[in-house]
Amino acid sequence: EAFNAQVAKAKTLNTFLVETPEHALAAAKATDDARAKGDELKPLAGVPIGMKDLFCTKGVASTAASHILEGFKPEYGSTVSQNLWDAGAGMLGKLNMDQFAMGSSNETSYFGNVISPWRRRDGGNAPLAPGGSSGGSSAAIAARLCPAATGTDTGGSIRQPAAFTGISGIKPTYGRCSRWGVVAFSSSLDQAGPMARDVRDCAIMLEAMAGFDAKDATSLQLDVPRWEAGLNASLAGKRIGIPKEYRVDNMPAEIEALWQQGIQWVKDAGAEVVEVSLPHTKYALPAYYIIAPAEASSNLARYDGVRYGLRDLPEGANLQDMYAATRAEGFGAEVKRRILIGTYVLSAGFYDAYFTQASKVRALIARDFDEAWKSCDLLLTPTAPSAAFALGEKSADPIAMYLNDVFTVPSSLAGLPAMSVPGGLDKDGLPLGLQVIGKALDEQGVLNACLAIE
Ligand code: GLN
Repeated sequence: EAFNAQVAKAKTLNTFLVETPEHALAAAKATDDARAKGDELKPLAGVPIGMKDLFCTKGVASTAASHILEGFKPEYGSTVSQNLWDAGAGMLGKLNMDQFAMGSSNETSYFGNVISPWRRRDGGNAPLAPGGSSGGSSAAIAARLCPAATGTDTGGSIRQPAAFTGISGIKPTYGRCSRWGVVAFSSSLDQAGPMARDVRDCAIMLEAMAGFDAKDATSLQLDVPRWEAGLNASLAGKRIGIPKEYRVDNMPAEIEALWQQGIQWVKDAGAEVVEVSLPHTKYALPAYYIIAPAEASSNLARYDGVRYGLRDLPEGANLQDMYAATRAEGFGAEVKRRILIGTYVLSAGFYDAYFTQASKVRALIARDFDEAWKSCDLLLTPTAPSAAFALGEKSADPIAMYLNDVFTVPSSLAGLPAMSVPGGLDKDGLPLGLQVIGKALDEQGVLNACLAIE
């Protein structure tokens, strides 16, 4: 109930698209009943969480913050949300996000941008971006509207918003969390993960969310490790790699300082720090911005005005006209840009030059990481090349926006677990995040290094 009251107070941040207090209260009541009966409590008993709107939730509007899915109330819930209910959690509501998870600032939402609860220390009053695409999740946690939320990460959408708002978030290894019932953006990259105030809460959430699901063909057929029980802030015997190619041109001095601070913290926790090379890093962003739109253009073909949500049927229109009118009206500008790029790079004349080439680059990036693991166990980098920027600052310039993903995209292309943890404040008093990247399936190593930093 306290969280419900907070949610009502904080409407101005525009974090929640739908509120479902009855769902959260039902979980709280079930917990009280279990306690009264003396039953053992579930791991997330009664915890009121926020659900990114990319997750389908049974009987509750699920729009992916788009116009084209307005009015869509799924008959089913995603596997990840079901796993959370099975663990005892309840839902406060559906969280705002970038439309179809495309964006880095939450400004592409059809329902308006989210405002970060953070302000610059110097009183500069420009509202700040909460990061994206899981910007509703990050802002809601940072504003204490909910203790934890789900996010999804295709190229950084859990980690970058976590960094911008001073919270933690982990993208697990590709395949750990089922994609079933999660609105698809780029299926070979999309991964769900938790966002929360600290590393331990992320570990508890991830344990509930993860697990094999026969309904997702890329789901990993593995037991879920006991990550929370395995938490250990000592890094004795661990080698932490510092990839020299992440020292990008024009990196602000304070991001460099943050990185040095992080290096000191992991050394203090007993790790040995080594420099490593990931030579194809600079090709990761261009490859990502070919592969992700290509898959998106295919995934978004299903929104045709027939099956879901919006239907625009002009007078006297035929089927083709209806498709065109629905899609013209229903998709936002960034989504249309991705569809155009995606269909172009997949078209017969350009497929080899773009999509095939990007897929080869992706393989080289994965190989870079494999090489790096010969000399280290984990990698430490900044999460983003800047602190939160002002709303509107980059929205007119897609390339500037895409560049913000420079540190998060390579590990997505390689399917590796990666986490952002708060690393301190910049000169304006805004949070900065450090990122730890691990080998496939080594979420434990990632969580432990983040625990040492936290
Ligand atoms: N900012 C990236 C994009 O716009 C990543 C988004 C995401 O991870 N969902 O594609």
